Amino acid sequence: MADSRVALATAAHPDDVEFMMAGTLALLADAGYECHIFTIGNGNCGTASHTHEEIIRIRGQEGHDAAAVIGATYHNGLVNDIEIFYEPELLRQVTAIVRQIQPEIVLTQSPQDYMEDHQNSCRLTVSACFTRGMRNWITHPWVEPTLQDVFLYHCQPYGCIGPLREQILPAIVVDVTDKIDVKEEMLRRHASQKEWLDVSQGKDAYLVAMREGCEIMGQMAPKPVKYGEGFRQHLHVGHSAKDEDRLSTVLGDRVQRL
Ligand SMILES: [Zn+2]
Repeated sequence: MADSRVALATAAHPDDVEFMMAGTLALLADAGYECHIFTIGNGNCGTASHTHEEIIRIRGQEGHDAAAVIGATYHNGLVNDIEIFYEPELLRQVTAIVRQIQPEIVLTQSPQDYMEDHQNSCRLTVSACFTRGMRNWITHPWVEPTLQDVFLYHCQPYGCIGPLREQILPAIVVDVTDKIDVKEEMLRRHASQKEWLDVSQGKDAYLVAMREGCEIMGQMAPKPVKYGEGFRQHLHVGHSAKDEDRLSTVLGDRVQRL
């Protein structure tokens, strides 16, 4: 299979990527990767004041603005929050986007996480990568199948635990210390979420929580770093010809294996 120098980060909601994976995506951008962020949900439930139409427009713009910080392209959500189901029509649409982007490295959410939207977005992404090359898997809109290798990684679930309180440990930690300010800048672009959470949880609470999460990840590395992002790599079968940790190949000693 041919190589592409394209990276894609997917998640359920606008700001999920910025919270959990943006430091690593920023490093990939520095390494010369064309970067994309795609949220499957449109973020319509993330408000206590705006109408449905207003908040979808606002959060779409925030997604574009955050992606622009690292020169990435943002792809708007396809369905409403809480309506992210693992079902054929949505999978056809997600596969169409994966075929259009043709990513080599894909970052997505954890198969176990506190929210069903996150888990379902993860499953849709995994299956869209798997079906990218299947001629008889019809996408909406139709996009020709693609055959590039895909190296797929799952970020950590919120709080490093699954919905049944099971502990989820990362397999690798990426040192994102150099990118923590960029990551925070991307998260700040989601101003509607910051305003909402400032009221309910205290000023800048979600920026503080992001940094604390990265500090905890950084401490988990065998040689601790100030700020880290943790990932587990998906089994390569069906995704790439060879079993390789492409993230480590590209980012070198910034990646530590636990
Ligand atoms: Zn989310």
